[in-house]
Amino acid sequence: MDNQEFYRGTWAEVDLDAIEQNVKSFKKYVSNEVSVMAVVKANGYGHGAVAVAQKALRAGAEYLAVAILDEAIALREAGIEAPILVLGWVPPIYAEVAARNGITLTVFQEKWLEEAASILGKTLLNIHLKIDTGMGRLGIKEEDEAKQLIECLATHSSFYVEGFYTHFATADEPGNPFIEIQIDKFEKLASFLKENGLQPKWVHLGNSAGSIRVPKRIGNLIRLGISMYGLSPSQEMKSIQPFKLNAAFRLYSQVVHVKKMMAGEPISYGSTYHTSEGEWIGTIPIGYADGWIRKLSDAYVLVNGERAPIVGRICMDQFMVRLPSKIEVGTKVTLIGKEGSEEITIDDIAERLETINYEIPCMIGPRVPRLFKEYGEKKGVMNTILKK
Ligand SMILES: *Cc1c(COP(=O)(O)O)cnc(C)c1O
Repeated sequence: MDNQEFYRGTWAEVDLDAIEQNVKSFKKYVSNEVSVMAVVKANGYGHGAVAVAQKALRAGAEYLAVAILDEAIALREAGIEAPILVLGWVPPIYAEVAARNGITLTVFQEKWLEEAASILGKTLLNIHLKIDTGMGRLGIKEEDEAKQLIECLATHSSFYVEGFYTHFATADEPGNPFIEIQIDKFEKLASFLKENGLQPKWVHLGNSAGSIRVPKRIGNLIRLGISMYGLSPSQEMKSIQPFKLNAAFRLYSQVVHVKKMMAGEPISYGSTYHTSEGEWIGTIPIGYADGWIRKLSDAYVLVNGERAPIVGRICMDQFMVRLPSKIEVGTKVTLIGKEGSEEITIDDIAERLETINYEIPCMIGPRVPRLFKEYGEKKGVMNTILKK
């Protein structure tokens, strides 16, 4: 587990039970023949890749996916033995490193195969062939490219083609028919590859949104990312979400200083805020260097179940809030999460920042420790004295 000691009063709580529930809900929703690949790139969307991967595997996921080889190796170093697919392009000179670590790579270029083959020799590398059906990012697009790959694969014994896949561009737009066009294109190219002798174990098309929208047409594996973390792929998808998602990420801090202000006193850099007579101002030890960016200077946090607006500019490591009343130093503050009847969600923060929810937990930096909650128990040691 990623848990380690930390000495600050700011932390993210990651609810591993929520991850488990979400994986199980997806498994139930798709047919029995469809397996789950847990996407844990970018440190598990900021939640903690190792802990999330372990939990997802225990909940029934069979495969893991990351964006870069380094992330895959970090999972191996943490003792994870499950198959791992790297979704991005890996420089072919590292093909042997991948093979040695039992890591599966994404492949779609003939030249890549040639270079990798010269490095691999007799070492066998597991690969998934990527087909670009409309994302315009990675993958082969045409039959003649497929033909070249097939010919190249036939001349080398270094590769085992374990999978075919593609990625949707508009799966999170429920009314958009482009997903069907992508599926048709994929099926055509996949059939061509199969007719030419490739019989992969895995065929996968769906991200979270695709798996929800077309569960019968996404092959035998889903690449489950955002919704494993309990978030909807888009606002529009919420209205067709067939089962409950459980958000796993919360962000907490504490009040480290409290003072009563007189009328007209300035707060923070630039003196952009001036207090009114008798205002209680609290200082919270998290700032833009932690990913709580300056654009959030008009947001609020929750203190004792009440909203406390951020006042003045957010600093690198701290910001100030206007407290509902005098409170004690050490009182817990919720930046993302629930307190009584009030809740601040990742979607709220994303909307405020005019971005997508994916970006929010990724933004919360490595200086913020992740505390894992499992079976109601919080694992990890916090040495800061927290009053509440
Ligand atoms: C990130 C990623 C996913 C996961 O997508 P979600 O929308 O988070 O479910 C799936 N496939 C590929 C290729 C990705 O890059």
